[in-house]
Amino acid sequence: MTLNLKYVMKITLMTPHRPKDMTWLEKTSEFSITWEDSHKTVLPFTALRKECPCALCRARRESSNPFQFVSETAPSSSLAKEISPVGHYAIKIEWADGHSSGIYTFEMLRKLCSCPQCKHG
Ligand SMILES: [Zn+2]
Ligand SMILES: [Zn+2]
Repeated sequence: MTLNLKYVMKITLMTPHRPKDMTWLEKTSEFSITWEDSHKTVLPFTALRKECPCALCRARRESSNPFQFVSETAPSSSLAKEISPVGHYAIKIEWADGHSSGIYTFEMLRKLCSCPQCKHG
């Protein structure tokens, strides 16, 4: 059987991504997600914090103030303290520095996947 890859990928993009399994890899400070379509995404917490979708961090990223940039790269800001599910569509990460207003939807987490397949797809 020949699979039309382009067609398959189009379908995948239209389907909301759902995780089958999520693992907090404390040793390497990464968050691993295995999706329902068997795809695997491993995201370092540093990258997750950098992409924090809350209004505050978005504003901070858009601002060019170098001092704010420094505070964002403080070591405790990329240490996760707690991860909790939000409904059936997202997770919330509470960081060691107390920041916890970012809600990471599964859709967004899947988009952050930086594996070769996603980068080139
Ligand atoms: Zn934030
Ligand atoms: Zn990927």
